[in-house]
Amino acid sequence: MKIIGLLGGMSWQSSKFYYQYINELIAQKFGSTHSARILMSSVNFNEIERLMMQDDWLAIGQLMAKEAKRLQDAGADCLLLGTNTIHIVSSAIEKAISIPFLHIARATGTQIVKKGISKVALLGTKFTMEKNFYTKILQNEFQLEIVIPNEVERQLLQALIFDELVQGVFSEEAKNTCIQIIKRLEKQGAQGVILGCTELPILLAEESIPILSFDTTLIHSKAAVDFALN
Ligand code: GLU
Repeated sequence: MKIIGLLGGMSWQSSKFYYQYINELIAQKFGSTHSARILMSSVNFNEIERLMMQDDWLAIGQLMAKEAKRLQDAGADCLLLGTNTIHIVSSAIEKAISIPFLHIARATGTQIVKKGISKVALLGTKFTMEKNFYTKILQNEFQLEIVIPNEVERQLLQALIFDELVQGVFSEEAKNTCIQIIKRLEKQGAQGVILGCTELPILLAEESIPILSFDTTLIHSKAAVDFALN
């Protein structure tokens, strides 16, 4: 079994699910006391959040590249960055390491195509929805049509993610806000929705979502386990 390098803490609310899912998937496969081989580096999210709000992606890239290299040097066989948003600095990370970088948007695109749908909504931070680092991969490599929330909804989601979800607050009100946004995007033709923020699946259970949903935390964890076992 290969060693998964997990770069987490963004936020730790979702990193704990990465750790849980990866281990559960290995246990499901091999049974008894089997568990995954993981090396984890967890950052102080407050530092990253401050840099994000200043739009200092260069500094974030340098910091991520350093942590990725640390994991590679410690013996990781692949790199899993446990957040959608920070994939903005993927190229800085990829330049710093020689082990495979398992991109979250590619893992997600692969699962969407398997479901046979072509138009999906993307929910996440305003960086993930508005910058093109994520949608570009889904459009160009998977020929998917992406719909994103309108400006008011994007502001709502951004506030909800940073003021509540990453701080461990998961309210009924926040859940209803997301469901309303998803229902509106469904009317715009979305056949599925990407929960493109690793804390969103904690808030929204699959059953509560009116359309097909894609849990990026689980999808990304599965991609890492597939890599570790191949
Ligand atoms: N975990 C979130 C994501 O998947 C948001 C926090 C962050 O900006 O890293 O995008």
